[in-house]
Amino acid sequence: MATFVIVGAGLAGAKAAQTLREEGFDGEVVLAGAESERPYERPPLSKEYLRGGSEREKIFVHPPEWYADNDVELRLGLPVTRVEPRNHVVRFANGSRRAYDKLLIATGATPRRLPGPAYYLRTVEDSEALRRRLAEGGSVIVVGASWIGLESAAAARAAGCRVTVVEREPTALHRALGPELGGVFARLHIRNGVDLRFGTAVAEVTKTGVRLSTGERLTADLVVAGIGVVPEAELARDAGLAVGHGIHTDASLRTSHPDVYAAGDAAEPFHPLYGRHVRVEHRAGALRGGPAAARAMLGQDVVHDELPYLSTGQYDLRMEFSGDIDGYDEIVHRGSVEDLRFVAYWLRDGRVIAGMGVNTRDAVPEIQELIRSGAVIDQKELSTGSP
Ligand code: NAP
Repeated sequence: MATFVIVGAGLAGAKAAQTLREEGFDGEVVLAGAESERPYERPPLSKEYLRGGSEREKIFVHPPEWYADNDVELRLGLPVTRVEPRNHVVRFANGSRRAYDKLLIATGATPRRLPGPAYYLRTVEDSEALRRRLAEGGSVIVVGASWIGLESAAAARAAGCRVTVVEREPTALHRALGPELGGVFARLHIRNGVDLRFGTAVAEVTKTGVRLSTGERLTADLVVAGIGVVPEAELARDAGLAVGHGIHTDASLRTSHPDVYAAGDAAEPFHPLYGRHVRVEHRAGALRGGPAAARAMLGQDVVHDELPYLSTGQYDLRMEFSGDIDGYDEIVHRGSVEDLRFVAYWLRDGRVIAGMGVNTRDAVPEIQELIRSGAVIDQKELSTGSP
């Protein structure tokens, strides 16, 4: 009987296991995770779950009985320490080993850390610890004005804390959205009483707050850091697989070894539309990548060419984004940026490369269609009408 091992029991791994069974695979499926919780969704951890607005049971990908019901062997709390593609074996931290026919590496990513005692947001324990602390109130310094930083700042304000956000870039979400539309998020937080400091890097977290790279100190009762993540690619690197920023795969999510696949935050698949390897750090990459890898492991023809997609909710703003703004030379929008109800498009050479809907009905299908068409668009038409 064939054995498929999935290393990493996050969303990508759980969805891969589900797809293997849905596609009729009747061999052994082993889903191995380093954490002790069964696979769960991360987006709520910095949003409604952090604010105390959703129940714990709701964050899990599958109910507890799903694994036994689907004959998926779930091995939790036991990290895989070594992958040996030539021997078709994985080794676990307790010294045990498991032979596989096909392997999926879906090990995710780990938060970058600052020196000193800060709160981070990656795991359900992180989210619960921060929620408990925010409920005590006081003053909070948030380091990083990107996804984690801004969603935590909104949760801290909702808990009644005083919040200062410190970001190295000139505005919020600068890399993801650029200065023009990153500025929309900065203004949103200012309106909600957050003190924002841009162009300022934190060098160290101290017992009383933070020390900036200029030497200046800011005081606070607690510090939350959302300063990016590092893909968990060490197992693949040590195994001699090709690794760039993440684990390199082809468009079918197959790594440089034919029986090893990679998906989710740890992977950097070749993207046919962009003609290069692209690492997507958001939920959609795991949600679609896990199943795509599973189908490829079963020998199906797979082209994983999903466009990057993400969404956020902060205060009363709901936003969905798709594409990649890299190299944009123009922005066109429809609706009112002032009233926070609009669709914005990033253009390069007259073609849409990314788009975002703010407090609108689902704008993403149209945005993705425009990106995929690669057509030079009529800007007047794009900017006219209601969002
Ligand atoms: P991120 O998007 O990589 O942003 C980190 C920000 O922190 C960057 O603007 C960075 O500036 C800044 N920074 C880094 N070091 C700093 C320092 N010492 N002092 C001040 N600023 C500093 O990372 P993130 O917000 O931590 O998110 C982590 C992961 O969670 C990502 O994979 C993200 O996609 C995911 N996530 C997504 C969502 C969503 O889609 N809604 C929500 C939460 C989390 P530089 O760019 O100059 O380094």
